[in-house]
Parts: sequence; structure tokens; C-alpha cells
Amino acid sequence: MTHEVVVVGAGIGGLTAAALLAARGVDVCVVEKESEGGGCATTFEQFGYRFETTAGLYAGWGAGEIHARVFSELPVAPPEARRLTPAYVVRLPDATEVRVGAGEAGDAGDKINVDEFETELSRAFPECAEAAVNFYRELAPVADTLQRSARRAPELATLGKFARMKLLAAEARHAPRVLALQTHTAAAHLAGTSTRFRRFVDAQLQLYAGCASDECSYLYAAVALDLPRRDLYALRGGASALARALTDSIKQSGGRIRFDTTALRLAFDADGRVAGVDLLSGEALRATRAVVSNLTVWDTYGKLVGHARTPAPLRERLKAARGWGAYLLYLGADDAAVARLPAEHLLALDSWQEGEPYDAPRAQFMFSASPVWDAARAPASKRAVTVSYYTDAADWFAYHTDESEHEAEDQRMLEACWTRLHAALPELGAGAEVIETATPRTFYEQTRRKLGMTGGIPQTLANSGANAFTHRTPFPNLYTVGDTTFPGHGLAAVTHSALIAANEIAPRK
Ligand SMILES: Cc1cc2nc3c(=O)[nH]c(=O)nc-3n(C[C@H](O)[C@H](O)[C@H](O)COP(=O)(O)OP(=O)(O)OC[C@H]3O[C@@H](n4cnc5c(N)ncnc54)[C@H](O)[C@@H]3O)c2cc1C
Repeated sequence: MTHEVVVVGAGIGGLTAAALLAARGVDVCVVEKESEGGGCATTFEQFGYRFETTAGLYAGWGAGEIHARVFSELPVAPPEARRLTPAYVVRLPDATEVRVGAGEAGDAGDKINVDEFETELSRAFPECAEAAVNFYRELAPVADTLQRSARRAPELATLGKFARMKLLAAEARHAPRVLALQTHTAAAHLAGTSTRFRRFVDAQLQLYAGCASDECSYLYAAVALDLPRRDLYALRGGASALARALTDSIKQSGGRIRFDTTALRLAFDADGRVAGVDLLSGEALRATRAVVSNLTVWDTYGKLVGHARTPAPLRERLKAARGWGAYLLYLGADDAAVARLPAEHLLALDSWQEGEPYDAPRAQFMFSASPVWDAARAPASKRAVTVSYYTDAADWFAYHTDESEHEAEDQRMLEACWTRLHAALPELGAGAEVIETATPRTFYEQTRRKLGMTGGIPQTLANSGANAFTHRTPFPNLYTVGDTTFPGHGLAAVTHSALIAANEIAPRK
């Protein structure tokens, strides 16, 4: 079969790129090894529960933001997104709580949220109230500049000289400061703050950027931490509702999706251009215009392109970059137990680790309950809860003589996580039971991501902004989309990466 564009993988990145291309009249075909789309952002169903495999916190669903921008081109309606108030609560080891994104639904502007948030900060961190408030005040104009720039020119990391000059002229007031901040870590802006405040920042940066303040790029941190003014949302039906809407859109626009179809490797022509995709079944798909890989950058080059065709410096970069593994508890929880908590989404920091480098697996976890208004996600008077912990993915792939060793490791992790959960959230009491767990091996089996690493590449100075892996590859007609490609972590960023690739392959008319 021949198509203009072949997309490998129906995660949110591949689906979004294909939906945009199909809506723009391109003959596109998606191949996905699973029987449905969504990849890491799917639903795990058991005993009447529909668990999110994510933390269920989604950015970019406001008017004029990335998802509205994408759905404005598609022939289908977006899933229902509701603003979370608060977005989440951070609970510190000394039981202090900080509400983030605390405004009430219906607030007209930013101001109420920001004022409330500053009051929260001053109350929670009296030992460094002014420095903490200033940290957030300083990052707001930086985040605004970057957000405005990304709207004007989504492909910020690969802008040509002329487009870059135009953008700098449009942002003349703030551009010099933003450019000067390119080499700063977030930690460089935390002088005068306490360890308690730093850990509050570290836990959130770990969630949004995959690394703590001592490594995280300040520019990335500015956008990630600007949440009190930007809001987070829950989706009815979870992220799989987004995958379904995109799948419908591709079909309605005349595109094709082939599930249960595994790509084996890329095919190259005599000039070294990507000619198409060879499938595991032996079939060859030809692509006359482009191939889009929704695989991680490790798998795009390691599996699809192949070692021999991957330039040596790129191989070295890929070897040096590492993502995190996730360990999940899927819990069935009583409505009443969730109601005793301060929010449906709770980021628990359960160890200060004073004087040590931040160690996310030992320091934090995220508790996420299905929204009370999304009753279809759980049996009556119950909630579907996903609790996510960080783990070193490689540890789960150490040599095992048989499967029972993996089960024993899973059991040990479950016991440790269960103890930490109840110590940090005693309100749960006996109101929650474990339905299932997921390890990096589970993610590997579902998505074939290298070592089951999820979330993306930590946004250190070496791997973010102008230094990020971008949608472009050494092959002119091969593109990558997804969370290991610029701009970074989370579904909003994945969607953004797909918009960039679609714009380059077939710009909107
Ligand atoms: C625990 C956890 C919590 C998270 N919480 C949030 C959150 O609250 N909010 C948020 O926005 N984001 C969250 N994320 C991040 C988000 O889920 C992911 O970044 C995103 O889903 C990744 O999408 P993707 O398109 O990059 O790739 P993937 O989801 O990895 O999709 C790749 C697809 O390619 C397919 N594939 C692989 N190999 C082949 C092959 N050879 N042939 C055909 N198909 C193939 C896979 O099956 C998969 O469907 C979370 C992630 C985790 C792990």
C-alpha cells in the first residue's frame, strides 16, 4: 500500500499529527501495534473501574490554548474538559498543605488565582515568604513571553533566522531577559528560600519536567510552574476520551488507522531517503511524502532507523539521556475516603532529604482520584484512583531467572508504597483497596517504550529548549512527535509537538 504519510504509533502524538494531516487533505495511514490508540494515556479497566494510566491533570484546555487550536481544525468535538479547583494540593512532610490553581470555577481573570496563591505561599512558607512570592512573580512574565511566542511560532526550537528575528522584534521588551535566562537552572533563582520551599518546587518540577530545580532549565520551569495562572483540567472519560476523539477525526477525514499492526523498521531508497515502513507481518507500506514516528527518540533510532544509519553523535546523545520509570497503584476507593482528602489530586512529598540531592523515587508520589462528576469511571459510591511513584526503570529489567522474581519485586514495591500512602494520607483509613499495580515492565509491554521509560526526557539544560530533540531528524522526510520531542512533558506538549510536525509536512491552508 502507498500513502502520502505513514504515522508509526497511535499515542496522543501520532493520533494528533494524523488527525491534523487528514483534516488538511493528506492521505495518511497510522499503524499501531495495540488494538486501540492512546499509548501511555489510556484506561485500565477492571471490576467496573476505569483507571487513568496518568495523573489525570491536563494543561492547555482553556480558550485559545493548544487543544482548542488543534480541535478548531478537526471535524469532531473535543472531549469535555473541566477546570480543577484547586488543580491539586501539595502536602509536605510536616503536613503543611499548599493549594495550587486555587481559584473557584468561573473566576473571570488571573488575578484572583494569583492573589490567593501568594497568600497560600506566605502562610505555608513564613520563613521565606517574600523570596517565595518573588520567585513566582519573576517567572510569570517569562512564562507569558514563552507562551505568547509558542502561539506565534510553535516550532520555537527550530525557527529559521528570519522567523527568529521577527519573533524577537515582537517580544522586544522581554526577549533580552529570556535569552539571558537560557543558561540558568531553576535553582539559580531560589536563593534566599528555605529547604521546605525548594522541595515544594522540586516535587512539582519532577512532575512536569522530570528533574528537580538543581538540574531543570529555568525557562522550562517558568512555564511549568506558572500553573496558578493557567489552570489544569480533568477530562470526562480520562485521556482515552481524547484518543477516541482523535481516532474518530482521522477516520471522518478519510485517513486510515490500522490497529494490531506493528512496524518493524523503516525502508530507505537508494538515495538514503525514508521510503516507507516495513511491517512485522512482512507487508511494506510506502510513504511518498513523509513518515512520522510517535516512538520515543530511543526507539525511533534504535528500532525504526537502526544503529547503522544513526549518526554517531546522535547515538551518544541518546545513550546519555535517561527517562524515569513509573510504578502505579490502581485503587478502588470509597467516595467518603476521597472526600476526607483536601483535593482529588494530591502531590505528597513524604521526605525532605535535607542536604541530599533530590531523589524522586524516595521523596514523592501523586494521588489522583476520578472526578466526582465522572460517575462512569467507578462503581456506585466508589472512585477510581491512580497513585503514581517514580522508580528507576532499568531496575525492573535486571536479569531474572523467571517471572516469579518480577512478581516478588512488584510485591515488595507494593508493600512499601502502600505504607507510604497511608502514612502521608491517613484520612484514607480503610477506605481504599488495591485492584492492580503497573510497573515499567507493564508500560513496556503496552507501548514498547525503551525500558518502559515514561513521561519524556528530563528537561535539563542539556535537553530542553534549543538543545531539545526536535521533530526533525537527519532524514528530511522523517519526523518525530511525542513526549521525548520538543517541547516536552505531558499531553499538551505532545499535542504541540504533533502540531509542529503537521505544520512542516502540510501547512494549514
Ligand atoms: C504515571 C504517568 C502519569 C502521567 N500523568 C500525566 C498527566 O497527568 N497529564 C499529562 O498531560 N501527561 C501525563 N503523563 C504523560 C503522558 O501520558 C505521556 O507523555 C503521553 O501519553 C505520551 O504520548 P506519546 O504520543 O509521546 O507516546 P506513547 O503514549 O508512548 O505512544 C506511542 C504509541 O506507539 C505504539 N508503538 C510502539 N511501538 C510500535 C511499533 N513498532 N509499531 C506500531 N506501534 C508502535 C505504542 O503502542 C503506543 O500506542 C503521565 C505519564 C505517566 C507514565
